[in-house]
Amino acid sequence: MVDRRDVVVIGGGITGLTAAYEIIRNRPDASVTVLEATDRVGGIVGAVTTGRYVVDIGPHGFIDNGSDTRLLIDRLGISGDLIPATKEAAKISLLKDNRIYQIPGTLGQLLRTPLLSAHGKARLLSEVFVPPRHEEDSVIDFVTRRFGREVAEKFAVPAVRGVVGGDADNFSIEGEFPLIKELERKYGSVLIGAVRNQQQRHRLDPVSPRIPSFREFGNRLKTFRGSGMQHLVDTLAAVLGERIRLGTAVRALEHTAEGRWRVLTDDGPAYEADHALIALPSDAAVQLVRPHHAPVADALSVLPHPDIRVVALAYRKTDVARPPRGIGFIATPGLPSDLLGAIHASTIFPEQAPADQIMIRVLAGGLPDAPILTHRKERAVELIHHDLQNAFGLKGTPVFCHEHLWRRPIPTYPVGHRPLFRELLDSVAQLGGLHMAGNSYFGVGVNDCVRDARRAATGIIEALRSSRPSAAVGR
Ligand SMILES: Cc1cc2nc3c(=O)[nH]c(=O)nc-3n(C[C@H](O)[C@H](O)[C@H](O)COP(=O)(O)OP(=O)(O)OC[C@H]3O[C@@H](n4cnc5c(N)ncnc54)[C@H](O)[C@@H]3O)c2cc1C
Repeated sequence: MVDRRDVVVIGGGITGLTAAYEIIRNRPDASVTVLEATDRVGGIVGAVTTGRYVVDIGPHGFIDNGSDTRLLIDRLGISGDLIPATKEAAKISLLKDNRIYQIPGTLGQLLRTPLLSAHGKARLLSEVFVPPRHEEDSVIDFVTRRFGREVAEKFAVPAVRGVVGGDADNFSIEGEFPLIKELERKYGSVLIGAVRNQQQRHRLDPVSPRIPSFREFGNRLKTFRGSGMQHLVDTLAAVLGERIRLGTAVRALEHTAEGRWRVLTDDGPAYEADHALIALPSDAAVQLVRPHHAPVADALSVLPHPDIRVVALAYRKTDVARPPRGIGFIATPGLPSDLLGAIHASTIFPEQAPADQIMIRVLAGGLPDAPILTHRKERAVELIHHDLQNAFGLKGTPVFCHEHLWRRPIPTYPVGHRPLFRELLDSVAQLGGLHMAGNSYFGVGVNDCVRDARRAATGIIEALRSSRPSAAVGR
């Protein structure tokens, strides 16, 4: 039996859900089905609520910077449920030698920080004289070239590990931190660019696009009251209703003689659609796309995908000698627990833990041979607790723990990634009716995935419009 549809969206993560929502919002007459392999929607986005603890197993929030995510939230009518992070979110620290150091956010703090030698500080400040380079670099090459080796080793390596979960040598500055590369491109110097941005902020210049500082990122971090980021995917799921089929793993995609796409599922019915949108993690996307477009499958299959262990631990405030400050920390490599970094969940979103406790959400692993990825949960928690104990002067044991092990959740982008995939996805579009979107192409953040979902949805809506005009008018 074959179910006929206008559009089949494969994958019910934030990308697939957003794309499906955009399509039905613009074309309420279109038949759209979302096929999701697991028994829940949201993919990486989701939170587990246990009593008064809310633990995001994926993103702990999104940056509310006028992005597509905010537009989506406004359209869903849930902007009233947003809660901003506390002011603490504008600061971030470095865990080094069992001590927490605040990462300098101003020139004054930079000159006073014990984290850099006098030579390292002088080299950092000489960045303003380093000529810009327009070609793409790896993160480590970019930071070494502009700020010197000491800054690269002490800040860039842990920052990349903490934010993206892997090895700074392999990542593209353009792919992972496009806004920093943009400062060099636009102003010839990252430091000059950062100062100019600061001035623009004061002038509230509406014309020139502003590149936000880390402080601004922290100040614009938001999540949802009650169930954290789970609320966003639950709301999308409620709007999409029966269009979502849970527990439906897609195993193959066929192009029919009539130019439609036949979607074969593991044990459910087959679907046939004019448009199939692959909104899957890279590994699953490779399997479906390879028979139709080998180059995109090849390019996806070589992307590194670090495994990440997420562990949230709560402690009584009375057991904490040095309470967590700021949004969290990034860790220098080499800790027994393979810590990458942590979010001080209850410091930035106090409602996510009981008032007499602190909750820290740790990310560990990253590199393929990191032992923390193979330990049993109990051993992993023990090692992480031990490293936190030293850093925060913890006297007691955790009163709450939640753990989640992600296998290959997000890719890391090598140099040249984005232009390559721009070309490859244009070429996939030539097949007619096949679309791809998600965290493998133009950014891994929630904002990036929502933007990419809207890109794919727009292509489908336009194609539906030209093949079958509708009286429906999008909001
Ligand atoms: C630990 C962690 C922390 C993060 N923190 C942040 C953060 O703070 N801020 C931020 O902006 N971003 C963060 N991210 C990144 C961001 O959350 C993800 O990149 C984004 O959610 C990916 O969404 P997606 O829909 O593209 O993919 P996914 O969420 O992977 O969704 C894909 C869906 O496809 C389904 N699927 C797989 N195979 C099949 C199949 N064969 N048939 C049908 N369905 C299938 C999966 O079950 C899944 O539901 C984080 C990621 C991780 C792992």
